[in-house]
Amino acid sequence: HDKHDNLTSQCCNHGRDDISQSRLAAKDLVLDVLKKRASEIDVDNCAPGAEDPFYVADMGEIYRQHLRWKMNLGRVKPFYAVKCNPDPEILRLMSKLGNGFDCASKSEIDLALETGVDPSRIIYAQPCKTKSYLRYAAQVGVKQMTFDNADELYKIKAHFPDAELYLRILTDDSTSLCRLSMKFGASLDVARQLLELARDLKLKVVGVSFHVGSGAEDPKAFVKAVQDARWVFDQAAEVGHELHTLDVGGGFCESTFDKFSGVLSEALDSYFPLPIRIIAEPGRYYVSSAFTLAANVIARRDAPDPLDPSRDAYMLYLNDGVYGNFSNIIFDHQHPVARILTCASSSRASSPNTSSLDGICYSIWGPTCDGIDVISERITLPGLLDVGDWLYFEDMGAYSKCSATRFNGFSDNHEVIYISSEAGATALLDY
Ligand code: PLP
Repeated sequence: HDKHDNLTSQCCNHGRDDISQSRLAAKDLVLDVLKKRASEIDVDNCAPGAEDPFYVADMGEIYRQHLRWKMNLGRVKPFYAVKCNPDPEILRLMSKLGNGFDCASKSEIDLALETGVDPSRIIYAQPCKTKSYLRYAAQVGVKQMTFDNADELYKIKAHFPDAELYLRILTDDSTSLCRLSMKFGASLDVARQLLELARDLKLKVVGVSFHVGSGAEDPKAFVKAVQDARWVFDQAAEVGHELHTLDVGGGFCESTFDKFSGVLSEALDSYFPLPIRIIAEPGRYYVSSAFTLAANVIARRDAPDPLDPSRDAYMLYLNDGVYGNFSNIIFDHQHPVARILTCASSSRASSPNTSSLDGICYSIWGPTCDGIDVISERITLPGLLDVGDWLYFEDMGAYSKCSATRFNGFSDNHEVIYISSEAGATALLDY
């Protein structure tokens, strides 16, 4: 605990400007490491797959996100959503930072436990659980878990009657990019009935949870969810439960965090003053910007620019696509942006029809035989790329590697080069 308290005071000494400054310097460092690694690979002579895509993971960026969290939402304890990126180094850092874990399956529970955390630092945040996983949670002492329906309560009664339950409520996620409420969450109409059933089954409800969806535009979604949670807390007290924790879920994004956290903090102070404990389940917020991916150009075809057929354009084929690390395009509605890492040709224009001033127009494709395997339908880049050149993509840490497949025989397990641009993370991880 002392270690974590020290960290918290260290966080508060770090200003917002310090964090932005460090982030800029970190980007240069990441680029240097990407270039160095790419320069070691001779695509004309290397062994099969030696030119596979690779990541540079800056653990310092995760550390900075943690400092930002502490500055903006100091009262809210993060339980990192393992599903987002279960990389063991990330989990190790989360554990050292004092965070908990949001797990959705037996394997995720195992990964979290392997970091050495106490089971009380894990929440099994999946409202519809597998029976055998429930028994496993009981066996390893992971007591906290969510539910949102009566059948789940009967299941919990049969397989883990000592569990500590959080009623997950429905939220308005209509402005979110990734919506979850069509699948999970009890409406307020049934909340009281569920609380009564839990009481009648002698189950212990300890809190309320929600998830406003990811990539939300409107921070008011958080305010409404907090107000609804307050109503459920009051109902629970009437029914005879003693609730002590509110779980505000995930969905925090790097770009909207300052705005959202301000609105959420105010709502929490109004509706849930101390001593109510507040936890959250951030995933992408922590890791998205920490991972940068490099992929190799394995083939190129010329093709007219679809918007201006008088201009030359190229189709580039990379050794990674939507069945691989770019699975975030399909599953997470992301639009990764290609940048040039290496470009062997010094020429900026390929032919008289290609304007060097405007850059060169490309579409970027993955390596599989499927037509949906497209990374970018049209992008203009300032260089004439050819087979063997490298592109890189920032913000590739969330819902990318973890949902990659081996379709068409391509690897789903690519090299990750870990670095740290922050002394704090370096010290914690003994790098
Ligand atoms: N908690 C739950 C229950 C989720 O389903 C998810 C994502 O699907 C998360 C947390 C993490 O969301 P995000 O990565 O958007 O923070």
